[in-house]
Amino acid sequence: MTTDTLPGHPHIHYAAGQLQVEDCALDALATEFGTPLFVYSKASMLSALAAYQCGFAGRNAQICYAMKASSTLGVLQVFAQAGCGFDIVSGGELARVMAAGADASKVIFSGVGKTRDEMRRALDTGIGCFNVESEAEIDVLNAVAVSMGKRAPISIRVNPNVDPKTHPYISTGLKGNKFGIAHERTLATYQHAASLPGLDVVGIDCHIGSQITEETPYLDAMDRMLDLVEAIEAAGIPIHHIDFGGGLGINYNDDTPPPADVLWAKLLAKLDARGFGQRKLMIEPGRSLVGNAGVCVTEVLFMKPGEQKNFCIVDAAMNDLPRPAMYQAFHTIVPLSEVQQIKSESKSLLCDVVGPVCESGDWIGRDRALAVAAGDRLAVLSAGAYCMSMSSNYNSRPKAAEVLVDASHYHLIRARDTLMDQMRGELLL
Ligand SMILES: *Cc1c(COP(=O)(O)O)cnc(C)c1O
Repeated sequence: MTTDTLPGHPHIHYAAGQLQVEDCALDALATEFGTPLFVYSKASMLSALAAYQCGFAGRNAQICYAMKASSTLGVLQVFAQAGCGFDIVSGGELARVMAAGADASKVIFSGVGKTRDEMRRALDTGIGCFNVESEAEIDVLNAVAVSMGKRAPISIRVNPNVDPKTHPYISTGLKGNKFGIAHERTLATYQHAASLPGLDVVGIDCHIGSQITEETPYLDAMDRMLDLVEAIEAAGIPIHHIDFGGGLGINYNDDTPPPADVLWAKLLAKLDARGFGQRKLMIEPGRSLVGNAGVCVTEVLFMKPGEQKNFCIVDAAMNDLPRPAMYQAFHTIVPLSEVQQIKSESKSLLCDVVGPVCESGDWIGRDRALAVAAGDRLAVLSAGAYCMSMSSNYNSRPKAAEVLVDASHYHLIRARDTLMDQMRGELLL
């Protein structure tokens, strides 16, 4: 019997021969709730949050969880109860986060395409800040606020044009991206916004990408941002808060992102050196708060030997775990049984782990050593971010169930879709 935690996953370990999340055996949860099943560790989320909280100790800082990473109500509640704010990108996310008990004044609204209706709802709710992304949006938000007799608090998302050195689909701060306002246009845009009656300029923000594993892009972006703050304030427009976005990576496969507190010690040193250490700071982490808190448990349906490779066909698919199909992303996959895990390590015949969806892009892992057979269960690791929140009903597959583990307790936080759930709202001719 061992209790080795998996590298990079301090709340996931084998005990009594079975993979556990905190004190709950995944096999028992899979038997109770079925597969595919997402299981999250509350302690893992809170310890990821604590790394940021420690990093900001003694500072005027607000952490806004970027909820698109995982937006199930039970997950949001964990962060709301821990005092987090939230970064939202749609009216649907606003409704969810308010249902989970968020403090509206700690909600910030990002995104390049907010509708007038979303703007009105956010103004009615009294959110803390709109992170606006274009000159056109500034004028529309001003008109909406004026029509409601309100002033919208805004921050302008600037595009610092630094390369985050990540996958092109999750790189957002380069000149060719659709996000933010070009560095050169920033001052003029602030001057225009400050002249409008329906807007209150409160901050500046950026977000350069996702799954960033190096410090340099953050340090470079910070310098570029502070240059802008100096220029904007020299023009007589005070900037009350500076928001450095999210994007810190997690360990999927020998990735070595800096720990949040280590990264922030360096960033804060730079802020102090440039005289901004006491400014209100905001950040918008998503993946780094939840990514490694979650696993997806799936059952092997069939082993299918082939001429060129073997296939391990499982009951989870690209509709549950879209990251491999979308970004060729890597997720570690391990058997729930420790004996099988040990045997897998010496297995030389590799297999592709694939789902039942009718697409060749429906794979979860390629060329994996797995000593498993039909009926065995596997855990797909690092499935806490951008999995369930990106999941779909493609192939009329139900969305999976989700369980939140808290030490030896567990809570079902999403019931598996029923067939009626899937057809709700549809009308026969
Ligand atoms: C997605 C997003 C985040 C969070 O990114 P992570 O890589 O999950 O930390 C933060 N801010 C904005 C504006 C985003 O779009």
